[in-house]
Amino acid sequence: MASSLVNKNIIVINTIDKIRKQVKTLKSNNKTIGLVPTMGALHDGHASLIKKAAQECDEVVVSIFVNPTQFGLNEDLDKYPRQLKHDIEICKVNGASLIFAPSDKEIYPENKHLTYVVPSKYYQNKLCGLTRQGHFNGVATIVLKLFNIITPDQAFFGLKDAQQLIIIKKMCQDLNVPVKILECPIIRDTDGLALSSRNAYLTESGRFKATTVNKFLFKIKELYNSGLQNKEEILKIALKQLDATVKLEYLEFLSLESFSEIDLLEKNTLIAVAANVDNVRLIDNIVI
Ligand code: AMP
Repeated sequence: MASSLVNKNIIVINTIDKIRKQVKTLKSNNKTIGLVPTMGALHDGHASLIKKAAQECDEVVVSIFVNPTQFGLNEDLDKYPRQLKHDIEICKVNGASLIFAPSDKEIYPENKHLTYVVPSKYYQNKLCGLTRQGHFNGVATIVLKLFNIITPDQAFFGLKDAQQLIIIKKMCQDLNVPVKILECPIIRDTDGLALSSRNAYLTESGRFKATTVNKFLFKIKELYNSGLQNKEEILKIALKQLDATVKLEYLEFLSLESFSEIDLLEKNTLIAVAANVDNVRLIDNIVI
């Protein structure tokens, strides 16, 4: 049974002990638990995951934790937006019952000689893994920790972070983690830009340039739908959509199933980009 949408009695919990007790009580009442892991600064993209979880599960836990182990030394850990009050409202109106918002110390009390989950290099040495060394070790480690703390039946991830989603699915398969992973589509703004907390760093003109990235991806889809399959031929036309100042960090065509590179587009091809727009790093993708 799905929980009702607005939850006025949402509870915010900061400690592992307390969340474990709450989950134990829910489970003893035969409630199914859905987990939505986030780093906060919630927007409609996150809200769509929470809504989906509320449809699928009796109770929804949203974790809000800016995970330091997935940030590189020169990345934006310190300036990453933190806005718990706003996040609580979004969780409330979209049907979550519990928010788990631990401190760094609660999650990493020792903070040295840590044990990490290390996803296979095959999945790491592509896309974001190429420039964000160690990022997916941090991601897989925090997600497994959250799974061990909350023991959800299902966990919800956005296709926005396609590589993350694939790595988490593989981790669960390889390590026999008893959590069903559900993927949720990318939510976009009216101008087509994929929602991201990093969009707030864009100026008005930066935002316009950023939308040329999604226009470029949708042009690829349009060309494929009109019968073109050859990657180079498609790119020759589609790249004209991109603003000249947008720097592509990567542009990859991968099979969603095997995660191998594709030259001839077919169904279930993931086309993923990371772009630098006026020094703001944005990622986006489409699946055809
Ligand atoms: P984050 O807070 O950035 O770690 O994201 C938490 C979850 O929300 C991840 O599973 C993301 O893939 C997902 N997410 C972020 N942005 C979007 C979006 N625009 N549409 C759908 N899911 C999203």
